[in-house]
Amino acid sequence: MKKILVIFSLAILLFSPSFPQDIGNWDIISINKNPQTLEKLRKMHLDFLMEKDGKIYIVTNISDLLKLNQENIPYSIETFKFPPFKTNAASIQGGINGSFHSYKETEQELASIEETYPKIAKVHVIGTSLEERNISAIKISDQVGSEENEGEILFLGCHHAREWISVEVPLMLAKFLTDNYNTDPDIKALVDNSEIWIVPIVNPDGLEYSIYVYRYWRKNRRDNGDGTYGVDLNRNYAFKWGFDNQGSSPDSISQVFRGQSPFSEPETQAIHELVAKHDFKALVSYHNFSQVILYPWGYKTGPSQIDDLLYTLSQAMSERIQAVHGRIYDYGRASSTLYLTNGDTTDWALGVYAIPSFTIELPPIDILQGGFFNSEGDIQSIVAENLPAAIYLIEWAIQNAGEKPSLNHKNKLPSEIRKK
Ligand SMILES: [Zn+2]
Repeated sequence: MKKILVIFSLAILLFSPSFPQDIGNWDIISINKNPQTLEKLRKMHLDFLMEKDGKIYIVTNISDLLKLNQENIPYSIETFKFPPFKTNAASIQGGINGSFHSYKETEQELASIEETYPKIAKVHVIGTSLEERNISAIKISDQVGSEENEGEILFLGCHHAREWISVEVPLMLAKFLTDNYNTDPDIKALVDNSEIWIVPIVNPDGLEYSIYVYRYWRKNRRDNGDGTYGVDLNRNYAFKWGFDNQGSSPDSISQVFRGQSPFSEPETQAIHELVAKHDFKALVSYHNFSQVILYPWGYKTGPSQIDDLLYTLSQAMSERIQAVHGRIYDYGRASSTLYLTNGDTTDWALGVYAIPSFTIELPPIDILQGGFFNSEGDIQSIVAENLPAAIYLIEWAIQNAGEKPSLNHKNKLPSEIRKK
């Protein structure tokens, strides 16, 4: 009798949607919205999908559901399920990306920029992803084939797969600088006096997965060996890595899983090697959404040694963004503006290399305006408003070309940089 009961229970578990065998599946659940639940949900790193008719819809996995059970938060499971990705075949067509650039389309765009402007643009493959896609950087400068003693700056896009607009802004920056080089003397001067490095897609495997399989994918495509996939690349950098379990997670199924060790992922290693080889005076990592400019620290709430400088640069960038079509990007320390993060790109770049570093969370402003989704029609305006801020920071890099980055002395504040 006991044996039959065990078999029976096992059968129930196997067919139950919440048995760990189902671990690759993602459910959309709905929860009735009220202030107490909201407060609890905020602390759980959940993946909010939308809010509708007094209900919050959330993308969850088994471990999220267990947490909800622990917190006694009732939920209903909606009917969608998302299978794990079994193939890494490169797809060119059939995605839902529309005007947003896929991996292949970005590769083609970079190649085309290099081919059209060989004197000022050069593509470098700086690494290879887990599924063997290129991590490509484009360098833009005069004498592009040689390393000159000019202000160097780095722009990064798409650490997080579903943040498609974060590919467009750095990619279109590359296009803007090269397309206008021959006709706009200001742009020519900018490019001639700086070395601009742009990596539009840090996480190509994740981006492809988001386009062809599951739009809401965030992490890379690491097979964690326990039925779960993905490391959060923006928690995998080697500064205060795993500082606490609030700013990142040791749990492989979490959306903010930091990986087995710092720089365990080839994608973050590629950025590490690039930064180590160069002398960047500033760094921007694009994400979305929230419309904020964030700067270190993320791992703790206190200020960095160059907090005044980071504040001033963010404020200046925010003003330039707002001047384009009036959209307001708030700015501030990452930890106090958004939430705690550890092992992110900007804390690492500042903490290890003393590089003034910013995370720009692109539009929309909140989940009700679309969250991770931007319409194709918004690409142009988001790119346009971000160009002057990027140009401003390039000018800052040029001004500081000879300076040794340091957290121990007061950097000069950028009041000299002209308004544009
Ligand atoms: Zn992100």
